[in-house]
Amino acid sequence: MFEGLTGNLKNALSGLARGGKLTEGNIKDGLREVRQALLEADVNYEVATKFIERVTEQSVGEKVLKSIRPDEQIVGIVHQELINLMGPVEPDLAFKPSGITILMMCGLQGSGKTTTCGKLARLLKEQGRKPMLVAADLQRPAAIEQLKVIAGQVGVPAHTEAPEGNNAVKVCQNGLSQAKKLGNVDTVILDTAGRLHVDEQLMQELEQIERKLQPDQVIFACDAMTGQDAVNSAKAFNEALELDGVILTKLDGDTRGGAALSVKEVTGVPIKFIGVGEALDRLEPFHPDRMAGRILG
Ligand code: GDP
Repeated sequence: MFEGLTGNLKNALSGLARGGKLTEGNIKDGLREVRQALLEADVNYEVATKFIERVTEQSVGEKVLKSIRPDEQIVGIVHQELINLMGPVEPDLAFKPSGITILMMCGLQGSGKTTTCGKLARLLKEQGRKPMLVAADLQRPAAIEQLKVIAGQVGVPAHTEAPEGNNAVKVCQNGLSQAKKLGNVDTVILDTAGRLHVDEQLMQELEQIERKLQPDQVIFACDAMTGQDAVNSAKAFNEALELDGVILTKLDGDTRGGAALSVKEVTGVPIKFIGVGEALDRLEPFHPDRMAGRILG
């Protein structure tokens, strides 16, 4: 997945095993290479620096230096710190014990928001829940039709309205009323508007939806392929909306890993799921331990 990062980390860490007896000096040199590998993978600068500080602090202690294989110990420390960096996860979507749970999906245009709404509906349906989709992205002309098609493929109801002269809060409220009327819906997923960049008007619209609809969870669709740009957008959305979770989309197309490794540390918001393909069944719960294992190769 993150071939460059995995290769560079392997080089940096195997260098530690080659040099005979390990000293504080050559451990620090090796870890400097690890830091370089993280920066090349587009990991946030501060995140990479603090990560190396934590690893160094543990690696140069007596316990590691006096162990039989200090190099292995250091790989173990890096592994554990990668897990800490991406986790802990919070897979819970705060479902209400009764009544309708509202999940609000937000993100920039093209981040995979609409697709992810469909994927989530499919997953929840599989788990025995009764989701419904609401097309509140009135910005992107094709989004409403796209959501309708996806709902048909997943086999869940969708609430859609004509975008002209309409407002997103109203569409969400009507969607919720529709869900109540249908009677057998327990989860409503709101597909909200995106823009190419974070802008004030968009944030105001989303804040209004949040205020009026009081979603149980606000989830950010974070395009892993856009690295630090995605992390910065997540930060801006979190400042406006207090996100409950991130779904990392397009991880299958991300060759570097910068967003995956930075977004939790920068925003404090847990990654709940990962999107690993365009098809509607390509959504998986996020496991930081597995991801750390894959990164280290
Ligand atoms: P929106 O503008 O945020 O609603 O974006 P869309 O849901 O329309 O997705 C934009 C593009 O990203 C589409 O071509 C999707 O098929 C694609 N996409 C979404 N999620 C994933 C994913 O996890 N992996 C890949 N490879 N493509 C994805």
